[in-house]
Amino acid sequence: MIIDIDKNSGYCFGVTNAVKTAEQYLSNHGSLYCLGDIVHNDAELKRLSKLGLTEITYDEFKNLSYCTVLIRAHGEPPETYQIADQNNIKLIDATCPVVLNLQRKIKNNYSDHPDLQVVIAGKQGHAEVVGLLGQTQNNGIVISKMEDLDQIDYHKPSCLYAQTTFNIDTFKLFISEMQQRYHNLGNDHLFTFQDSICKQVSHRKKAITKFVENYDLVLFVSGEKSSNGQQLFQECKSYNPNTVFVSSNEIFDQISLDGINSIGICGATSTPMWLMEETKMALFKKLKKDHQLDDSMQ
Ligand code: SF4
Repeated sequence: MIIDIDKNSGYCFGVTNAVKTAEQYLSNHGSLYCLGDIVHNDAELKRLSKLGLTEITYDEFKNLSYCTVLIRAHGEPPETYQIADQNNIKLIDATCPVVLNLQRKIKNNYSDHPDLQVVIAGKQGHAEVVGLLGQTQNNGIVISKMEDLDQIDYHKPSCLYAQTTFNIDTFKLFISEMQQRYHNLGNDHLFTFQDSICKQVSHRKKAITKFVENYDLVLFVSGEKSSNGQQLFQECKSYNPNTVFVSSNEIFDQISLDGINSIGICGATSTPMWLMEETKMALFKKLKKDHQLDDSMQ
């Protein structure tokens, strides 16, 4: 039996940086608040919570003062920085530089062109999208499905951006549909777009789809809440239909390994490498229990 972990899976640099920042602070101070989930992965949250990281909600944040709070890689709207200032909260800002750069671009474009419709292809309510919308004083328009394009006024200028983890194919569909709608009114000049999808995400998609084709069974390890995880899982499934979403090792009881000779393990940008290694170990145990593995193979 061949069992491989995809060496290109695991944290992107934005999440790696946020987690390392938290670990460093915790090793010196013992405790730290984090505004929202530092990463959409329950196992990693549990590990960091044991080290002293406490996740807080926005309501809790508003009621805090004289403490230190970590801003995760997704970034935050300007309101969060204002509240911290008012309440004497020290922020450790681990916003990913890619997200920060996108926030700046949107902010500058919006303040230079106040009549511009800033359109963001993304998931409504997602932390990164909330941070991006904040750069437009919440006047931006979020689109996640075709019907959402009806909210746009095609007589007015617009600029389309994407949440950094947005699906590239859907983004392309939105671009061509918006181009068409502007064109129908003779307003082609009013539409612009910027491909702001993170290259770490788009490159990973290519690499992971190549990886999954080589195995009889693929275990895609991810937290349920990770939007990048849900997307990459669908991608993997379209290249290898025998791909299973693994958010807990309990799923092994439901998987049949009959006729399986090779297993690939991969994951999202929010899946820590240690969790994929743990999945591999759990798999070894199952194989051993099912008498499909002898001790020499471990
Ligand atoms: S996916 Fe890209 S933009 Fe998002 S946190 Fe990771 S590196 Fe940053």
